[in-house]
Amino acid sequence: VESLTVGELAKKLHREPSEIIKKLMGLGVMATINQELDKDTIELIGTDYGVEVEEEIVIDKTDIENYVDEDKEEDLKERPPVVTIMGHVDHGKTTLLDSIRHTKVTEGEAGGITQHIGAYQIDANGKKITFLDTPGHAAFTTMRARGAQVTDITILVVAADDGVMPQTKEAISHAKAAGVPIIVAVNKIDKEAANPDRVMQELTEFELVPEAWGGDTIFVNVSALDGTGIDELIEMIQLVAEVEELKANPNKLASGTVIEAELDKGRGAVATLLVQSGTLKVGDPIVVGATFGRVRAMVNDLGRRVKEVGPSTPVEITGLSDVPQAGDQFRAFADEKTARHIGEARMSKHREANLAKTSRVSLDDLFDQI
Ligand code: GDP
Ligand code: MG
Repeated sequence: VESLTVGELAKKLHREPSEIIKKLMGLGVMATINQELDKDTIELIGTDYGVEVEEEIVIDKTDIENYVDEDKEEDLKERPPVVTIMGHVDHGKTTLLDSIRHTKVTEGEAGGITQHIGAYQIDANGKKITFLDTPGHAAFTTMRARGAQVTDITILVVAADDGVMPQTKEAISHAKAAGVPIIVAVNKIDKEAANPDRVMQELTEFELVPEAWGGDTIFVNVSALDGTGIDELIEMIQLVAEVEELKANPNKLASGTVIEAELDKGRGAVATLLVQSGTLKVGDPIVVGATFGRVRAMVNDLGRRVKEVGPSTPVEITGLSDVPQAGDQFRAFADEKTARHIGEARMSKHREANLAKTSRVSLDDLFDQI
């Protein structure tokens, strides 16, 4: 390596930049995240982590997952929270998503035609909230397995007449592992058999303790069916979002994560992207997972064509040469040549990896037969 910034080094070592900065301080070096470090310093830090720094490690420009976004504090602007809904089967996740969408989106929209793109945004009290419509578990497992973190806040839905169930526990452990704040929506309170106190009691076992009992977890009693508590739930999401101080730089090329993708007969490869940083524009050259292209058209969750979208916005795009996978990262580039170059390199890497996988499998099969 010739040089790396503190942020790049942190990424390579899978550490937080703050940790590296602290280590540097211990060495008498005062550094910021964007500071370039020389070879000797990199080696020193690397050794500390038991990593040997080799000469040939250079920043791989095709490695779009590990690009470091170096934003100045003053370039960061508030962005909407991205919310996923998790919980046990039949506890009302889908009904709740529909209920939130209907109270806040359809009413004001002419015709109320919403398009299914795997995510939607609502406007509440002058601020936006993005809801991912993919099953919460998938959002956490597939995406996190691929290094993507898309969720800022999790709504844990627990039916008041059923209580904590296996998938409730699973959801809690996913959210905790990801360090995502949990808001508990105690659903179906309209039911005769509803017992919200029991739900609270059961959840204390998982360190989800309501504020009324001295804890710091927000509980909201709702009925996804009749709309009770939905406004309060939305307010609570906004409260948590404020505490989290979610920010992104909208004034640069976009990057983010694929939420869904499919091959459409008429339109070719169609992908729903969640822009997490920067602004994505029609015409932008883009690398998405192991494919690339140019953003031909963008459609938002209301089925409207849009020319550009900023952070925390889900959008459906066309113009890719192939279908990417959910959880893939994307990054827009200034020129098509770079996007093509990186895209093609990633495609052949992907192909090689698949080929290697196939030959390994056949070898295993062979051994199985012996
Ligand atoms: P999911 O599997 O978590 O997505 O659950 P669904 O949203 O599909 O809901 C499962 C069942 O519970 C459906 O029959 C819903 O109509 C019903 N349901 C959902 N929310 C409520 C609620 O607040 N009150 C009542 N009474 N039923 C509900
Ligand atoms: Mg469902």
